[in-house]
Amino acid sequence: MPSDRTRPRRRVVILGAGFAGLAACDGLAASAAEAGLEVVIVDRHTYNTFQPLLYQVATAGLNPGDIAYPVRSFLHRHGGVGFRQGVVEDVDFDAREVRFSGGDPPLSYDYLVLATGATTNFFGVKGAKEHALAIYTMEDAVAVRDRAAALLEHAATFGPSEAALTVVIVGGGPTGVEMAGTLAELRRAELETTYPEIDRSASRIVVVEQLGRLLASFDARLARYALQALEDRGVEVRLERAVEEVTDDHVVLSDGEQIPTSLVVWSAGVRAGDLADRLATEKTRGGRLEVGDDLRLAGHEEVFAVGDLAAARDRGHDEPLAQLAQPAMQAGRHAARQILRLQAGRLTEAFSYADKGIMATIGRRAAVTELRSGVRLKGTLAWLSWLGLHVVFLLGFRNRVAVLSNWAWRYISWRRGARVIAGT
Ligand SMILES: Cc1cc2nc3c(=O)[nH]c(=O)nc-3n(C[C@H](O)[C@H](O)[C@H](O)COP(=O)(O)OP(=O)(O)OC[C@H]3O[C@@H](n4cnc5c(N)ncnc54)[C@H](O)[C@@H]3O)c2cc1C
Repeated sequence: MPSDRTRPRRRVVILGAGFAGLAACDGLAASAAEAGLEVVIVDRHTYNTFQPLLYQVATAGLNPGDIAYPVRSFLHRHGGVGFRQGVVEDVDFDAREVRFSGGDPPLSYDYLVLATGATTNFFGVKGAKEHALAIYTMEDAVAVRDRAAALLEHAATFGPSEAALTVVIVGGGPTGVEMAGTLAELRRAELETTYPEIDRSASRIVVVEQLGRLLASFDARLARYALQALEDRGVEVRLERAVEEVTDDHVVLSDGEQIPTSLVVWSAGVRAGDLADRLATEKTRGGRLEVGDDLRLAGHEEVFAVGDLAAARDRGHDEPLAQLAQPAMQAGRHAARQILRLQAGRLTEAFSYADKGIMATIGRRAAVTELRSGVRLKGTLAWLSWLGLHVVFLLGFRNRVAVLSNWAWRYISWRRGARVIAGT
């Protein structure tokens, strides 16, 4: 990989091998050589994480390897694209160089695609960063799984405490709902057989949401269905209350209620990551990078920003698109097309988003799906479409087979995969 300006082809550097970065890579790979481009993708990990199923790793329904896919295996199908593992520290827009942590040599670029995603937003809530666990990365999900398993083992051996048997989930969006629903099923289907020493009626799962409803981005009827489905599974939902403080053994809500807990799962919101914070460019709410309608940064016509770290807007709309997989993938592909146009001496085009809808699952035979066509599904049909879509979008045949067999084992036999206390 020549590092100086004498390299024969112009270099596209893609930062981040998530949904957006891999989509950009996909869009460039086939035509890059012919267009006189070399493509290098950079990530701090050697694998891509399928974030929508992280909560299943956190609840021991899936193994981490089932939802991780090696970047180099992806690139194997995209001949000629280079990979570099490294933590990006900063970008020098003037020198057109990416800077890495740990003193790794910089990487120069002619075109840059920023796609490093987002991270957990604790909104400055007292004690949240120290005591709550997020589920944004694989490490996060494994940490939640390990903490839950360690608490249960401790309770089984030394006797339960209220805090040890109470999980508080902060945030009633799709991740919070999915996490709560899965934990409730775990309690119903397995707690008694795996931990006969523990009285399952003493365990609590509490969702705290500061708005007046769950699933704020969904139709109100679907949100009511989700609320009912969670309550039917014994989940306590506190609406219109915010978490004001998290300690190592309780949370304090805005109405003064204190809930004893040793496991707080934070799924209340995201902000663009640390790299976005460091970049000297215009930001909007949540630290997302402002982009023009072609997804370029203002004043840097060779730099695109896509996915969760950017505030892409659909043509004719003021509100940025939601931080979801579809907008990220479509923006990644758009950036790839624009780079090929620029390389061919053509003008860029505005991004427009093809909305395919949203979905969330509560548990076995309970999910909600809202299509932009106006079709709304709930219950078994929505759940089956949720299962199918998540398998289709997973990277790698092996992962699809692993996830399908884990789900079949779990949902047909109504039992769970082995849970191990890893890393403790
Ligand atoms: C728990 C959870 C559940 C979700 N469920 C859904 C869902 O059901 N449906 C849906 O549509 N969306 C869902 N999302 C959102 C969806 O996953 C994101 O919108 C999507 O991943 C954004 O893609 P991205 O490429 O912008 O970022 P990411 O997929 O986060 O990829 C960013 C990449 O950049 C790398 N990176 C970050 N910083 C650096 C750095 N400094 N140096 C090097 N590499 C770096 C990361 O390792 C990562 O590989 C969920 C997200 C989470 C966390």
